[in-house]
Amino acid sequence: MLKLVVFDADKTLWDHHNISDFEEPLKLVGTDSVEDSKGNKLTLFPYVREALKEIKSMNLLLGLATWNIPQKTERVLKLLNLWDMFDFIASNDYPYKFLGLTEIILKARERGYRIRPEEIAFFDDRRVHFGNVWLYLGRVNCFEMWTDVKSFKEVVEVVKSLMSEGPRNTFKS
Ligand SMILES: [Mg+2]
Repeated sequence: MLKLVVFDADKTLWDHHNISDFEEPLKLVGTDSVEDSKGNKLTLFPYVREALKEIKSMNLLLGLATWNIPQKTERVLKLLNLWDMFDFIASNDYPYKFLGLTEIILKARERGYRIRPEEIAFFDDRRVHFGNVWLYLGRVNCFEMWTDVKSFKEVVEVVKSLMSEGPRNTFKS
């Protein structure tokens, strides 16, 4: 049974590849973009907000696992008014997503949730992370953004199907 959905941030939730490059002052532009003092800009991909809300409304836990300086992640998420959407955030200055997912599993355990790997769906634009996730954590349901799923509407469909049909065979290439 699916319990937790985890997203990467850069190039998954928004179009910029590295928000750790952003320099203060940051400002919100419209509702879905953040701009820094040097002209760097990120914009949320379409339907991200709606998808996060739909996932929360399914009584699932929501996590973020990102290779970014934690203060930058917090700043950007708060500007976008998304900080409170996530139950668990693992933002680290190293790229190892299997460690980020482990951090989230341990944080969840501290709050009384026991989550097995097959009860997690993980969405990241970089497939390169999935090998270590499967090696060190087990049968996490991993999906490469923009390849395995092509939109956030599809993300919601995948999450719904995992809730009703159980885990997918995530070991196929
Ligand atoms: Mg990414």
